[in-house]
Order: sequence, then structure tokens, then C-alpha cells
Amino acid sequence: MPIQLVRELHFKGESTFVWDKVTKKIELSKMLKDKLRVREDLASKLSHKERRKALKDGHAHREPRPCGLTIHPGRGCSFGCLYCYLEDMGLPVDPEPYGLTGLQLAYAVASNPFTLIGRGGTFLAFGSITEPFLPRIREKTLEYLRVINASLGNPCQLSTKAYLSQEDVIPLSDANRDISALVTIPTLDKAPLIEPFAPSPELRFQTIRNLASAGLHTALFFRPMIPGIADEEGPHILEKAFESGAKGVVLGALRVTSSILKRLQELGFESIESRMIREPRDRRDQVPISMGDVKRMLSKIAERVGLKVYPSACSANVDAHELGCHMCDMGPCGGSLPEYDPEEIEQALSSLGIETKVVPRGHSILVYVRGGSKRRKRAKYLVSTATKRKVLIRQLGNKME
Ligand code: SF4
Repeated sequence: MPIQLVRELHFKGESTFVWDKVTKKIELSKMLKDKLRVREDLASKLSHKERRKALKDGHAHREPRPCGLTIHPGRGCSFGCLYCYLEDMGLPVDPEPYGLTGLQLAYAVASNPFTLIGRGGTFLAFGSITEPFLPRIREKTLEYLRVINASLGNPCQLSTKAYLSQEDVIPLSDANRDISALVTIPTLDKAPLIEPFAPSPELRFQTIRNLASAGLHTALFFRPMIPGIADEEGPHILEKAFESGAKGVVLGALRVTSSILKRLQELGFESIESRMIREPRDRRDQVPISMGDVKRMLSKIAERVGLKVYPSACSANVDAHELGCHMCDMGPCGGSLPEYDPEEIEQALSSLGIETKVVPRGHSILVYVRGGSKRRKRAKYLVSTATKRKVLIRQLGNKME
């Protein structure tokens, strides 16, 4: 994307994307208008054919996951980690860049009925179905980050196992200075066996150093915690991450399909099966491994060495962007929550044809919605994202009128 176009996009959006740090009061109607205006602006830069392709893409339809909306700069990964689920999802070992341009991707995200844009908008997470810094994917990652930052302004996060030199960090920092960077290191000694084609853990600690010294918010992604490794090597990994400049750690559980289980058992990690919470239902089913005891132990050590413990990846994204969030029971995360006006939210949703009654309830919000599941889902995501609170949906019935 030409730099001039990026500047233009940034200039047009600048005044409206900044989170109102003074009052911290959100207005859903304003967020929806911003989204529409940016969407139209992006549409004007795309041909009919380009728009059609973007609108058919999953980024324009998918419901956000708990960590936010996953952004795919590519598909597949060549690192061959034995705990990886990509092969079971049918994704290629030979990674391929994603088929949308940066503008198309931003247009797709702005067209998604469940998203909001801006600093207070939907969390965006790069790296779920590819490694964002593989040689074939890297340019696409940077392009998406640049265009999203300039046109949408959402809080972005990426997770990586790549080695990023000081030079590699410069274009990343130019693309998005506020990014939340997660560097994955789940083992030291077993890395050659378990992550055969990924850069060594030593190089990944160097990645942490380089990201942190460039001023980027960097955390250790200790995921997956593998029984027999996390408990033994974890304390040392946490210490090294802190010494390298990580601000915090996300401790994530292992999830196994039947083939991941088989691969890890063949390496002698027999205890995994006894920690499975159930049997896999089919080839693609990912079963969580219960690691609560190890997580508690590592959390204590992390705090002792000086790392913040984030309950989830999105929590690091919230910290990086100085937000507050209580959208799920793992929170509250970060700082204070934005204020909101229930009536204003009702009016904003009504402009979308969704009739609601919004009732604050402690840190949560009860939203009574008239209509089917599409409206209920849309109301839930929009209200939850805007207010950063947990939303409970109820059917709007005669009693509420
Ligand atoms: S409360 Fe924390 S863990 Fe839950 S969605 Fe918000 S940032 Fe994520």
C-alpha cells in the first residue's frame, strides 16, 4: 500500500478514533456512525469486484472469539510444532499469504456486523492460523497492521515464535507502535523435539529483548503448558522472559486432538492423557488438558519474578492499550471501565432495527432484545465491545414493555 494512501486514511480518521481518555464515556451511536463512515471511505477506494471478494470473506462475517476477532495474514505454518492444531484443521504446511489486500481486509472488518472500530472497538488478534512472520507471510502481516492502524484504529495483538532482529522490529513498530506482542516459548530443553523448525528459544528471548527495547508492549506467551515440561522448565522460562524485558505472561493450556495426543505420547509425555477432561469427539475436536495446579504454581512464580499475570491473551492487549475490560469472568482486566448511558445504547441499537431494553446489573448488563438469534447476537457483541462489560441477553417480552 502506498505510504501516501496510508497517511490519507490516518488523517481522515484521526479525530474520531482516539479513545476519550478524559471522560471515558462511550456513545454507541457515535461508534456505529464512525464505523459506517470508515466503511464507506474504504469502499470508495476499492473496485466493485474487490468489495465483493472482501464481503464474501470470513473476516466480514465471523463472530469474534473471546480474544477478539482473529485476523489471518496467511494460512498454514512450516514450524511443525507437535502440539499444533493447524494440520488437523486441514491447513497447509507450506504457508500461503491471505488473498485480501490490506484495504480489502480493513473493509471486511468494518463490514462485519459484530465489530466496532477504534481504540474502544473489537480486539484484533493476529497469529491464530499462521505464524505472522514467516518469510512468505511477513509483508502481508505488516500491510494489514499498517492499514488497520491507519483506517480502523482497533487494539491489535500478535503472537509469534519468529526471530525478530532489531531491524525486523522497525517496520513492525512503524506499522503499529501500540501493538501488544506475545512471544511464544513453552519449552527450552525440549524445543528441538517439539518445535523442530521454529527458531530456538534463545532466539525468541532475543525477540523479546528487541521488541521491548523498541518500546513495544511485549509479553511471554507460555502456551501450551505441557504436563511434564511446564512444571519443570516453567520457573526458568519465566525468569528469562522477565530478564529479557517481558512485561507479563499469558499462561495458556494445551488442547489436544487425537493426533496431537499421539505425537506427544510417542515422545514419552504419558501423563497428558490422565489430565484430559474428556475424549476427543472426532479428528478435529480439541480437548483441553487440565493444568490448573501448574498454572497456579507458575502464576505465583511469575508474580515473584516481576511479571504481570494476564488471565488471557486479550488481557495483555487491554494492558497494552491502557483499556479496562470485564467482558468475561476472567476479568476485570486493566484499568477502569468506560461509562455508558443505557438509553443512548437503546437508541443506537434501534437505529440498526434492534429493539432493546438495557438494564445495568453490577458489572454486567442485561439486554432484553426483541427478535431472533441474529439480532440477539449482534446486540450482545456490540454492547459488550462498546461498554467492555459482560452482557446477558434476554428475550424482550410483554413484561418489559
Ligand atoms: S475481562 Fe480480561 S480476559 Fe475477559 S475478555 Fe476482557 S480482557 Fe479478556
